[in-house]
Amino acid sequence: MKKMIAANWKMYKTRREAVQTTAGIITNILGKRLEDREFVIFAPFTALQSCADVLNAEASGSRLFLGAQDVYPAGEGAFTGEISPVMLLDCSCAWVLAGHSERRHLLGESDEFIGKKTAFALESGLNVVLCIGETLVERESGQLERVLSGQMSAGLAAVPKDIKPSRLVFAYEPVWAIGTGKVAGSEEIMEAHALVRRLIKNFFPLQYAHMRILYGGSVKPDNAGQLIKLDNVDGLLVGGASMEAESFSRIALA
Ligand code: PEP
Repeated sequence: MKKMIAANWKMYKTRREAVQTTAGIITNILGKRLEDREFVIFAPFTALQSCADVLNAEASGSRLFLGAQDVYPAGEGAFTGEISPVMLLDCSCAWVLAGHSERRHLLGESDEFIGKKTAFALESGLNVVLCIGETLVERESGQLERVLSGQMSAGLAAVPKDIKPSRLVFAYEPVWAIGTGKVAGSEEIMEAHALVRRLIKNFFPLQYAHMRILYGGSVKPDNAGQLIKLDNVDGLLVGGASMEAESFSRIALA
């Protein structure tokens, strides 16, 4: 199982900036012997094609993939402002995020809607990183298991049981650790990832051991090396520290 190190650029970067950062990442990481790792850049919609052009030109395709940060669960139609899986595939996207906490909490996406996106994106040929995570209030009131279990039940409701395990990745991102500089402690991460692994087993009893669980939340070059070694941590999803090629590359190589 290859570890996945993913960059989430959120609503940052013009096309030119995205191209520069992508080129910098390629230069820094692709020559390295890291056969057990793969990398994904989740770029804003407007920069996807520009990033794809750089990736294709550098023939970096087998290790560094392109992803979108969101998708609408329909092939096409009167959904003003939305983007379909077909459009993302047309821009060379292989991956899409579903259920990032900023979409759940700032844009009000429900667990059920995220489930629709997850299933439709997979059915359309995109691979999915399904993000889950609890708020501080939920954690402190003992609701970790209830919250993660609810997000996963709804998120996976329509996903076929025989999905190829490499196509569906989970990202455990405690909301209180995203963009706050407060990385979760090793014990907290291992406890949550073990729980996520048990929950995955309920849905995919045959493939659960081969499905990746990423940690996300204030990952930095200084803590990435220690985080990636923790039990059940199969990769990292990085926001703020992924914006600069240098910083993301140090995390990717940690
Ligand atoms: C994220 O955007 O998924 C994230 C984890 O952000 P940050 O690394 O900035 O906490």
